[in-house]
Amino acid sequence: MEKTLSIIKPDAVAKNVVGKILNRFEEAGLKISATKKIRLSKIDAKKFYEVHKDRPFFNDLVDFMVSGPVVVTVLEGENAVSKNRELMGETDPKEAKPGTIRADFADSIDANAVHGSDSYENAKTEINFFFATKEIF
Ligand code: ADP
Ligand code: MG
Repeated sequence: MEKTLSIIKPDAVAKNVVGKILNRFEEAGLKISATKKIRLSKIDAKKFYEVHKDRPFFNDLVDFMVSGPVVVTVLEGENAVSKNRELMGETDPKEAKPGTIRADFADSIDANAVHGSDSYENAKTEINFFFATKEIF
């Protein structure tokens, strides 16, 4: 069984669609191993998105991620990393397939509703960033 990290971003939390998004994971056979609502500090957000620090959108991304609470979730299941990425859809909601989370809930490439780990290795790092071992089931 593989694990991955999902973040429901501030735009989707503000739209009150947390339950609808978590339901999509469960409907696809992924289990919620851990979940919590938190507000990231600027330091947290910069560290989490460090790989993007030289990209032109980095500062806007950090400001957006701290603009309101997020819901961080550990998902578990067969091929959880790729399954979650499929459920999310493309980064730009305009390019996301109909029926994906971003197609249905995101407004723009900046406010795109969800984050999902992009590899098994990154998933491990991202899960450890937010959760202690005893919090994950
Ligand atoms: P993903 O979230 O699909 O893995 P990336 O890891 O490439 O996408 O980018 C991280 C986040 O940075 C995206 O989810 C999006 O919020 C933001 N982002 C990416 N590309 C752009 C862009 N060209 N303009 C504005 N924001 C962007
Ligand atoms: Mg990414």
